[in-house]
Amino acid sequence: MSHIFPRHTAMRPPRAKKGDGCYIVDETGKRYFDAGGAAIDCLGHSDEKVTKAIKDQLDKIAFAHTGFFTSDSAEALADRLAEFAPGDLDRVYLVSGGSEATEAAIKLARQYHLERGEGKRARIIARLQSYHGNTLGALSAGGNMWRREPFGPLLVEMSHIDPCYAYRGQRDGESLEDYGLRVANALEAEILKQGPDTVAAFIAEPVVGATMGAVTAVPGYFKRIREICDKYGVLLILDEVMCGMGRTGYLYACEADGIAPDILCIAKGLGAGYQPIGAMLCTKQIYETIEEGTGFFQHGHSYIGHPTAAAAGGAVLSRLVDDGLLERCREMGGKLETALQERFGQNPHVGDLRGRGLFRGIELVADRETKEPFDPSLKINAAIKKAAFARGLMCYPFGGTIDGKRGDHILVAPPFIIEDSHVDEIVDTLDGAIKDALGAQG
Ligand code: PLP
Repeated sequence: MSHIFPRHTAMRPPRAKKGDGCYIVDETGKRYFDAGGAAIDCLGHSDEKVTKAIKDQLDKIAFAHTGFFTSDSAEALADRLAEFAPGDLDRVYLVSGGSEATEAAIKLARQYHLERGEGKRARIIARLQSYHGNTLGALSAGGNMWRREPFGPLLVEMSHIDPCYAYRGQRDGESLEDYGLRVANALEAEILKQGPDTVAAFIAEPVVGATMGAVTAVPGYFKRIREICDKYGVLLILDEVMCGMGRTGYLYACEADGIAPDILCIAKGLGAGYQPIGAMLCTKQIYETIEEGTGFFQHGHSYIGHPTAAAAGGAVLSRLVDDGLLERCREMGGKLETALQERFGQNPHVGDLRGRGLFRGIELVADRETKEPFDPSLKINAAIKKAAFARGLMCYPFGGTIDGKRGDHILVAPPFIIEDSHVDEIVDTLDGAIKDALGAQG
């Protein structure tokens, strides 16, 4: 009997025994292509440089508490993250994962306003169909109803506006630009409704990951969001936990939208699965407000600034920017996009193909003309996950994105080291898995 508490109690997953490039090998020797467990493993599973950086750090010192020490690896990682960061992002707070980063961001936004004498600013505005993590603050910001439902009574009250989701939101005859302005202007309406002097921050994912499958914003949307935040003194928090660290072909995903936030969260790809690490970046102005105020961000976890995790993060970053993997992500992302279009572009059950870089989404529909989703009781997304895994492919199907119940999507987010043959393997296996899942429904 196992004492592990698995994700699903009925789950008896195989044991991951070995990493081999883009593959995970189980105890029977079966190989699984990692096209995105959850968009973490951007370098595959046997990156020698990252492994060496971790071992070297362990040989020096594994950990030193930030209440007393900083470390070479944490300083170096913060310097490099800040060097490439957009806008005025200048200070880096290292944490252990994505939820920790978004929790810290929300608390920093609140404390910033408090220290500036704007203590009424405590409200957070977020978006529907978003995911910001599973801790209670992050879950309160998240707009995925299925994830929120059981914990409703414990969540902090936050308001949620519509996301920028052109496939379902754009009206007949409306240009993409007009659509983007219309949905962005909903933020202004919400700020006015809440009372501008009560709103601390707006949080959004530049490219929505785990709830909608690589949904990019239309051109102009985030520029208008930035203007609205500036107009009302509301901080803009961008959650790039999934879409950041090169996943979209840009080191920071918001570069594609031509804007910079006040606070930015990253995780997943920063550790690339080699170590649990995330980071919250903030502007010089926010940092200096705290510095000149209480001098203490009233937050902290035991493992913030972890030297070994930071060594991994530094090596991952170096692989992305020094070894050309960002460019490779862009190039292979283009090839994957073309291959998905060729294979699924005319599929009667594929409503939308989208994404950027190696962050691609497929939205499945019962009827392509009407965009009618599948009956949720068919559990199409779960069936695809099962079929793909049986065929040796890890991808990330999920559902419940329309009104919290309907909607089936697949997120594909392979490592940046993929070769042309891997693109074919992903598309072939997915095709088979989708056929298996739809065939099983008759
Ligand atoms: N934010 C986004 C956009 C995410 O996709 C996730 C995880 O999927 C999180 C936050 C939470 O990150 P973690 O699972 O590392 O806590």
